[in-house]
Amino acid sequence: MGPVVYWMSRDQRVSDNWALLYAQQEAIVHKRTLLVVYCCPPDFVGITSQQLHFMVEGLRSVATHLHKIGIGWIFVQELPDIFLPNLVREVDAHSLVCDFTPLRIHKEWNTSIIQQLTVPFREVDSHNIIPAWVTSAKKEYAAYTIRPKIKRLLGEYLTDIPAVSAHPFPCTDPFFGGHEMWTVPDFPGFHSPAILPFTSGPDQALAAARNFVDYRLQNYGTNRNDPCQNGQSGLSPYLHFGQLSAQRLASMVLTAGWPEETTEPFLEELIVRRELSDNFCFYEDKYDGVEGFSNWAQKTLREHWHDTREFIYTLAQFEAGETHEELWNSCQRDLVYSGKLHGFLRMYWAKKILEWSPDPETALSFAIALNDKYSLDGHDPNGYTGVAWSIGGVHDRAWGERPVFGKIRYMNEAGCRRKFDVDSYITKVAQLTGIK
Ligand SMILES: Cc1cc2nc3c(=O)[nH]c(=O)nc-3n(C[C@H](O)[C@H](O)[C@H](O)COP(=O)(O)OP(=O)(O)OC[C@H]3O[C@@H](n4cnc5c(N)ncnc54)[C@H](O)[C@@H]3O)c2cc1C
Repeated sequence: MGPVVYWMSRDQRVSDNWALLYAQQEAIVHKRTLLVVYCCPPDFVGITSQQLHFMVEGLRSVATHLHKIGIGWIFVQELPDIFLPNLVREVDAHSLVCDFTPLRIHKEWNTSIIQQLTVPFREVDSHNIIPAWVTSAKKEYAAYTIRPKIKRLLGEYLTDIPAVSAHPFPCTDPFFGGHEMWTVPDFPGFHSPAILPFTSGPDQALAAARNFVDYRLQNYGTNRNDPCQNGQSGLSPYLHFGQLSAQRLASMVLTAGWPEETTEPFLEELIVRRELSDNFCFYEDKYDGVEGFSNWAQKTLREHWHDTREFIYTLAQFEAGETHEELWNSCQRDLVYSGKLHGFLRMYWAKKILEWSPDPETALSFAIALNDKYSLDGHDPNGYTGVAWSIGGVHDRAWGERPVFGKIRYMNEAGCRRKFDVDSYITKVAQLTGIK
């Protein structure tokens, strides 16, 4: 009798993980051991050393925690749709449980795995508070269309999360199918990057969340749009890698004793906007293409496709922060150095890529490539949706028409200057990076 296998991918934590809880419940009912598997594809979609380091450090904490409670863990550098069906067969697994991810590559893996399995395969959405397919059965138009659906269901899903318990049928063998248990090996491409802006791991994630909720949440509503203030939570890398549960964070916010007007702006981002991004990527196959934009946006961009651009840059010039605008270059350097760009500046940054690229399709591919390469929270539905919002008006409305942008909302440095002290930000980035 083999184990229940839980394929961990997007939710890289032991506590507050509904997929792990479900897999453990299955294992207990059927008197099985429980094995957690992480499959790291050999060519891990362009992941950088900062991202890799962040992920590996977090997974090492996961492995240690699982060991303490008798749950097996193996880390393999294999494609999931090749490794997992073989493993399930070889060890006579009872069933396979996996995380939910709306991105294309995961859907393809799932389809391929299902075709090869003869045991039950269950997908559990532990990343959203309400499972994406329950919130809505279709692509939502904007925040105002998904918000009432979320609000209606939130009471039912924003519940206490039970603690994971020591497994009554423990894994004890230090090897499983030739794989060393409870380790994450150093592998080619893994080295400590020069700059480590965030300390990784589920414990660190919870500590950062606690600090934000207790000391900075109260100013979120007023400070979050000013890149010179430490106004945002800074929790997106933890949320992206699943080291922090959004449900846990929302509960911490709601039980901290702050009035509703303090918590509401943050919960709007954490729940409504985040779950809207998953909805977009789940129901829109072309979430990273111009074809994924609304008809009005595609039409207006087509009408301005051949407008004369005053400046046009290559991907290499954008990447090196070599445009004519000092604010944009500072954003790019900040992103490369810190692994994160302030949310307000992300919008300006992407919109300028639209303005200074030969066409919207190229702009979209540049923005996604740079965001995925340098953001610690990149390769995320929030990223694809954020870029699509900036360049393709996704979840936005039509604005006054102008060159290149058509009716897509425009942003520029003058607008930033009205919002915050641009020169202070440029100075801060120069000090941080040592580049003037
Ligand atoms: C061009 C562009 C690219 C982006 N790329 C990413 C990305 O790669 N990864 C990513 O997680 N977010 C991305 N975002 C969304 C947003 O900017 C970030 O989630 C936010 O800045 C992260 O910082 P924080 O955790 O301090 O946010 P906070 O303001 O503290 O918000 C808390 C959490 O709410 C969620 N959230 C906040 N704003 C948004 C939003 N607009 N849409 C969806 N969810 C949101 C995030 O999970 C965030 O961690 C992008 C936005 C744009 C415009």
